[in-house]
Amino acid sequence: MDHLHNGTQNIHALIVDDDDVDRERLVRMLRRGPRAITVEQAASQAQALDLIRQPEAHFDIVFLDFGLTDGDGRDLLPAIRDGIDPDCPIIAVTGNADEQIAADSIKSGMTEYLTKRSLSPERVAASVEEGMAWRQYRHDLRRQEEELTHRSLHDPLTDLPNRTLFSDRLDQACARARRSGDPFAVVMIDLDRFKEINDSLGHAAGDAVLVTIGRRLREHLREVDTIARLGGDEFAILLQNVDGEESARAVATKLTEMIQAPIVHGGRVLHVGGSIGIALCPLLGFSPEGLLAAADEAMYESKRAGGRGTDKAVLAATSDLQPRRRYDQGGLMQDIERAIATRTLDWHWQPKVDMRNGEVLGFEALVRWDHPTDGPLPADVLIETIEQSHLLEAFTYLCLDFVLEQFAALQPVLDKAAICINVSARMLERPGFVGHVVETTARHGVDPARVMLELTETALIANPAQAKRVIEQLQDHKISLSIDDFGAGFTSFGYLRDFAVSEIKIDRSFIARFTESRFDQSLVHSLVVLCESLGIPLVAEGVENPETQAMLVAMGCTCGQGYGICRPMPYAEVRDWLETWNGKRNGERLRA
Ligand code: C2E
Ligand code: CA
Ligand code: CA
Repeated sequence: MDHLHNGTQNIHALIVDDDDVDRERLVRMLRRGPRAITVEQAASQAQALDLIRQPEAHFDIVFLDFGLTDGDGRDLLPAIRDGIDPDCPIIAVTGNADEQIAADSIKSGMTEYLTKRSLSPERVAASVEEGMAWRQYRHDLRRQEEELTHRSLHDPLTDLPNRTLFSDRLDQACARARRSGDPFAVVMIDLDRFKEINDSLGHAAGDAVLVTIGRRLREHLREVDTIARLGGDEFAILLQNVDGEESARAVATKLTEMIQAPIVHGGRVLHVGGSIGIALCPLLGFSPEGLLAAADEAMYESKRAGGRGTDKAVLAATSDLQPRRRYDQGGLMQDIERAIATRTLDWHWQPKVDMRNGEVLGFEALVRWDHPTDGPLPADVLIETIEQSHLLEAFTYLCLDFVLEQFAALQPVLDKAAICINVSARMLERPGFVGHVVETTARHGVDPARVMLELTETALIANPAQAKRVIEQLQDHKISLSIDDFGAGFTSFGYLRDFAVSEIKIDRSFIARFTESRFDQSLVHSLVVLCESLGIPLVAEGVENPETQAMLVAMGCTCGQGYGICRPMPYAEVRDWLETWNGKRNGERLRA
């Protein structure tokens, strides 16, 4: 079954055409190509379906004529995609050179079109090669997506579940405990002397310690328990059926032994220890955040106690529920914190328009920050820093408050335009998030139907169940959701059907290469078709020039955003811009 990977492998082609002469001509051309090729032929829809539905049917490529005596060739598309391969390249072969037909065929899911008049052996051979490359590319994307899902949920070093998967399991355990009273324990472990080993013996030694301890934990705990690496030298465990102080202490002793057992690396024997904090559910309640914070606090207490004894576990008491503040990472974080407190961050607005007629559909708010001494910091750098800090929530809530207040003031002159606000994936985990968005919207008198949140695709893949819940809650309050940076390497069409998504934004890297790259055109084609069938508007971002704009519109992607339309501008300029823009539009309408 390795037909995908060998460029010179025999190819199995299907030709569907009711004209015997045309079919024979195509067969001859195919045979003249560089690859060994076997061809099956069908003269009608019915014959084609028989071939496709054979139990062992396999075709690498299909050539399809539209006008068949018993119907439209395009009706066969679903059968081919389902019966053979969802990524099977399908080449439309039409008698007609009409641009519109060409565009329609691409839109209906064809990979490429050829007109019978322009057929040549070279052209046909090129289509075969491009079709094979296209299929390979689609298969690679699917594989990457699976890998990404795994990678987004596991720590690459130890292959243990990561923080995201751990919090998902913790949520589930809390929900289960609330329903049935099943007790469990949250255990936090922080290794002692790890930093010394890492610093003095190198990262390889540090990695060996983490891998060994990860493996020991996994081997010695039960299948039902979740063992995660949260980052650095921090591990967390969810232990089922730990029902009281006594069993918790027993577990802690066992864990301590596992951690303290010597580790051999590079001819040396390494010794590490662990500080352990434990929180019990339902003793400390059912809140995932609360339990985690309690276990964390207990773990730090154990670390502070720092004794050399074997029993270094601290059991969180009911009064320890204060979440502990993390350390700052120096000056930048403090500067950001101050900027949030003093509201000295700013948001620029970039319009999103219907590229056919210029109608303004919305504005995306993009953060801008002038560092007091270092000057402007790029938005993505700022966001990345904030996302790794304790400031994320404060930043997000400031953003909502700031932008919605501005939007409220402009709402009357904005017609139907929406405000689009970027939200970091991690905010989905915050329990009060949706409530806060709803409250802020209402407080500023903004119509929730005109508020759209932008979330990246990765956020949805990382924790689909949680994302789905949040999106549904938002939708209950009429607030819509856009998927940002769609297609950035990990295109995942499947889950779009399951989410109440109101918009998809194609990643700007595709749009940048769009006019030159057939692959990117293919991706945009597929997206246009998919979004049309799902009834989800598609937006191209990063539209930088008129050629790109024209090609997108011709392909059916009509909403756009980008420097070629308008750069992000300060809020104070939006009103004037809108007037000029609409004035120009009206002028053009009158002239037309
Ligand atoms: P994004 O959401 O993909 O935002 C679009 C980015 O593309 C913006 O960069 C915008 O200025 C830029 N852009 C717009 N048109 C074009 C174009 O034609 N060509 C090119 N090359 N770029 C164009 P910016 O403002 O630097 O923002 C970078 C990223 O930072 C955003 O990417 C978003 O992920 C994040 N971000 C920005 N503001 C916020 C915010 O308030 N909250 C959160 N959570 N993230 C934000
Ligand atoms: Ca965005
Ligand atoms: Ca984007």
